[in-house]
Amino acid sequence: MASKPHIAVVGAGAFGGWTALYLLRGGARVTLLDAWGPGNSRASSGGETRIIRGAYGPDQPYTKLVARALDLWKQHEAQWKRNFFFPVGVLWMVEADDNFERGSLPFLKDAGIFFERLAVHELARRWPQISFEDVKWGIYEPQSGYLLARASAQAVVDQFVAEGGEYRQAMVAAPDLDRGQWKALRLSDGSTSDGSSVVADRYVFACGPWLGKLFPSTVGPHFISTKQDVFFFGTPTGDPRYNEDNVPVWADRSDHFMYGIPGNQGRGFKLADDTRGPEFDPTSGQRLVSEDRMAEARRYLAYRFPGMKDAPLVETRVCQYENTTDHNFIVDRHPGNANVWIVGGGSGHGFKHGPALGEMVAKLVLKDETADPLYRLARFEHKSKLSS
Ligand SMILES: Cc1cc2nc3c(=O)[nH]c(=O)nc-3n(C[C@H](O)[C@H](O)[C@H](O)COP(=O)(O)OP(=O)(O)OC[C@H]3O[C@@H](n4cnc5c(N)ncnc54)[C@H](O)[C@@H]3O)c2cc1C
Repeated sequence: MASKPHIAVVGAGAFGGWTALYLLRGGARVTLLDAWGPGNSRASSGGETRIIRGAYGPDQPYTKLVARALDLWKQHEAQWKRNFFFPVGVLWMVEADDNFERGSLPFLKDAGIFFERLAVHELARRWPQISFEDVKWGIYEPQSGYLLARASAQAVVDQFVAEGGEYRQAMVAAPDLDRGQWKALRLSDGSTSDGSSVVADRYVFACGPWLGKLFPSTVGPHFISTKQDVFFFGTPTGDPRYNEDNVPVWADRSDHFMYGIPGNQGRGFKLADDTRGPEFDPTSGQRLVSEDRMAEARRYLAYRFPGMKDAPLVETRVCQYENTTDHNFIVDRHPGNANVWIVGGGSGHGFKHGPALGEMVAKLVLKDETADPLYRLARFEHKSKLSS
């Protein structure tokens, strides 16, 4: 009988954690490493909540991946007796340029994600506490909703360990992985000499916003980490109209691209602008929201949710998107090092896919197969770096 391959996964966020779990279940011996722990405050998976929705526009693989992810989230919730998925519904508000939304509908249908196409008078009837000014129509996914991010990232690693995986909290000291000559991962965890490196048969780097620096020539030119400010407002006391029982998760392309999650685990009414912020260093960046984004969030809140116009700000968070230039994921072998895989580029929409992506990556790595061209590094050839 062939011995088990040993695979080291670096990064225990939504992508690395689920990948490690599925590699283990696929028969590998797996060592999972993370510098600061799953869902830590610097990680992109470190927020309280993330949206799971199927509307993704035309010509893309993501709606199908969401459908698979939804099944897997539910299966794991049942197995682990934990609640991570809150199907409070997702409302997509549509403006005049509706190519994205119209293109989403056949994909939703094909993937079996239930949705309703709602005229603006129906939107106003169902949610009278929302002002639908400038909105032309809406897509409502009643069975979609939001996920607990940080808590589920931690639970995945707990489960990985319970199923026999090895987890170490340690930073991989990797000044230039692109050189391709290294034979082991050097760790900077202060361990004794025999514990200071990891040698494996294959390596998976799922390092979120750090990937560009870890692979400066293969990933770096096609990758940018951007600062994203998130605001949490307190709903009016004694007024349930803006609670998650009465407002779904929403996304609004009619005014910037704002989105939000009501309720949000008691953290307040979450509101954020999907517009890419300035470049941001995930290790050393100061996580303070900008005054301009704050003013914009307040203006928008009063415009779309008039009953919230005087709502107090109860919390803020700064996270970063790990954007590829085309906002598609990266799942590929390193061009100069065939036993090294790079997995990331969630680009502001990766979290929901965690279990489906982990399942897909594990299969590719274990069977030594090649990913869909959309996810491969070769697609970046002749394309220029994102400017903002
Ligand atoms: C504000 C905000 C809102 C978002 N909203 C949504 C949403 O609604 N829905 C959705 O689906 N997605 C959303 N996303 C995107 C989603 O959160 C990310 O795409 C996803 O979490 C990325 O996961 P990851 O595992 O690739 O990266 P991360 O979670 O960043 O994990 C990478 C891990 O690698 C570790 N690491 C890095 N370098 C090293 C090293 N040298 N050695 C060891 N460990 C290392 C880090 O500690 C980290 O834990 C949002 C993101 C942000 C910032």
